[in-house]
Amino acid sequence: MCLQKKDYYMYQAYRPKSKFGGNNSNYNRNRFQGRPKRSFGESIDPNRFVQKATNFNIEIPTEIKNKFADFKFCQELNRNLQYKKYEIPTPIQDQSIEHIMNGRDIVGLANTGTGKTAAFLLPLINRAFLNKNERVLIIAPTRELANQISNEMHEFSFSMKVFQATCVGGMPMGKQIQSLRRNPNFVIGTPGRLKDLANKNFLKLETFHNIILDEVDRMLDMGFVDDISEILNLLPKDRQSLFFSATMPPKIRVLVDKFLVNPVTVQIKSRDTAENVDQDVVRCSKDQKLEKLHEILSKPETDKVLIFSETKRDVEKLTNDLIAKGFRADSIHGDKRQGQRQRSLNLFKTSQVKILVATDVAARGIDIKDISHVINYTQPQTYTDYIHRIGRTGRCGKTGIALTFVESR
Ligand code: AMP
Repeated sequence: MCLQKKDYYMYQAYRPKSKFGGNNSNYNRNRFQGRPKRSFGESIDPNRFVQKATNFNIEIPTEIKNKFADFKFCQELNRNLQYKKYEIPTPIQDQSIEHIMNGRDIVGLANTGTGKTAAFLLPLINRAFLNKNERVLIIAPTRELANQISNEMHEFSFSMKVFQATCVGGMPMGKQIQSLRRNPNFVIGTPGRLKDLANKNFLKLETFHNIILDEVDRMLDMGFVDDISEILNLLPKDRQSLFFSATMPPKIRVLVDKFLVNPVTVQIKSRDTAENVDQDVVRCSKDQKLEKLHEILSKPETDKVLIFSETKRDVEKLTNDLIAKGFRADSIHGDKRQGQRQRSLNLFKTSQVKILVATDVAARGIDIKDISHVINYTQPQTYTDYIHRIGRTGRCGKTGIALTFVESR
């Protein structure tokens, strides 16, 4: 089977482009200085929330030079790749796997959805299979993303005796300490928890000669810069470092210059996910909002819906309102324990619940392919946030629908 265009879109993700007025330098600056409060956020012209999806019968821009066979992975890994039906590398895999196998440091400019997880996991699983003393540290900004990487890792390394531990915040430390004691080849975690474990000497950073930072821009955005620098400083000097980020603001450039050695930069031109999304506004007064939302959710074509609201309280309230109205809805936000968040995500992923209400931060890193609608019950703070939100729909070559509530007086 060869890579179909519709498959290709599965790993396309948004990178900000000036076409939508999302000026990149502002984007970077905002992300740097932390998330602005509502009163400091952009005032977004509602007309920018209206746009028809373009049809996606366009040429795939990047030529893929390698086949997976060219990377000469061990037989066991090739078998697992076949099982996962990976046949053709995505552009980021095509351009970075060989460099990683050759031990080069990498700066990968690519977003979620481009296949970057396999780009770094495959060569390193291969290496750890050949040398059971190899140790790899993977740092991701959110628990969800760390768990997602861990799940992919399980599938790629099936029956290869390459072991892993996942160490994320919000989960009991005891089990994580136990799994670290077994000296796993891979440790995947979030910055705060990894730093805690290292400070308590359960995580021996000096033993990791491979380090991956995933979604570096989001980690900085979330205020993890000191934790990351601290961790990087404690790693051995002779190591391979791979940094992945959707953008390269100056603060990341500083990290790259300080911690990477002669890195290869691989930049993937992602297609704008927004092109796959029919975008429209729902104008109504504040009092009519809930009723209007019920109306939309009751339509037969509204299948699987991710609803964004601003605060954890708003999310909880809206979810309860929807449940009271007889909808099966669930929520994710920062006040929920990690186990609860994971359960809610799984229910949504497996379509046992078709409505998930979320805050922006909790929804980061969600990779669920069949979301039919994204509804912005409250407007996002910046246009970049808007594009991130609506990028959750319109995947796998399908057209998604994004509706944004605009309150009229
Ligand atoms: P990622 O950007 O790593 O989150 O990957 C996005 C999605 O694309 C995931 O569901 C992967 O399983 C899938 N994917 C990544 N690489 C390939 C490939 N070479 N062939 C088919 N699917 C892939």
